[in-house]
Amino acid sequence: MRMAFIFIDGVGLREAAADNPVNREVCPALCRMISKHSRPIDACLGVEGLPQSATGQGTMFTGVNCAAAMGRHCEGFPGPSLRKIIEDNNLFLQLRRRGKTVRFADAYLVDSAEELAARRYKSVTTVMALTAPETIATAEDLAADRAVMQDLTRETIQDRYPDIPVIAPQRAAEHLYSIARGADFTLFEFFQTDVAGHTADYARACKVLRAFDAFLAAFTRLAETAGMTIVMTSDHGNVETIAETGHTRNPVPFIVCGPREERIRESVSSLEDVTPAVLTAFDAP
Ligand SMILES: [Zn+2]
Repeated sequence: MRMAFIFIDGVGLREAAADNPVNREVCPALCRMISKHSRPIDACLGVEGLPQSATGQGTMFTGVNCAAAMGRHCEGFPGPSLRKIIEDNNLFLQLRRRGKTVRFADAYLVDSAEELAARRYKSVTTVMALTAPETIATAEDLAADRAVMQDLTRETIQDRYPDIPVIAPQRAAEHLYSIARGADFTLFEFFQTDVAGHTADYARACKVLRAFDAFLAAFTRLAETAGMTIVMTSDHGNVETIAETGHTRNPVPFIVCGPREERIRESVSSLEDVTPAVLTAFDAP
């Protein structure tokens, strides 16, 4: 089985409201996936306070409740003890132990994995990718369309890389698809939704969600014809409440679309269950 895992940062579930841009007019493909292929799951992990990226993503990609392990929700970049949990338990590592090939589709603007490893601050996905350095895509890969920029269109890197052309989100979907066809498991991380959620700027959030939606609609069509399973979830809510700049305690959608979708979905009720469900899906005959 082939799986494409799209991690979309900062998207929770909330009833329709004037300040909720996650609606059918702005992002019809995402809303369709949520209504037809998802269930709401918990991102609060039994810990008080607002859920945060380091512990939320750490939990999503290890199956260890990192917020409980740390005794709190940790923001941004994981510190040494959280990093250790990720290095020892992450999904890439566990898939590779099963003989599965993994890819991280996002491009890093570096020349090599060594350059990335030397960075002082590393996100959860970077810590995870560094445990499987062959998964790391560089600026050279991006220029050759063998990687996808985190903003989809590459607009944010034009000042540094004017030779790498801007592309439509649909093209980014085609690139992700050709990457995903070459591996058992491919991860793509999109965090502009969380960035937009922190700005409290409704128009900006709509622009980000529209671009993502065009990408998702194109990718879903391609994945469907190839019988590829799409898994998509978020680390915490944020953008669904634009009136507030912080994260929310809302549930997040756990979306699975394609072969084995019911079986994968039914065992997941919180971020802690995501990695075990993915591994079980790969273990099934
Ligand atoms: Zn955030």
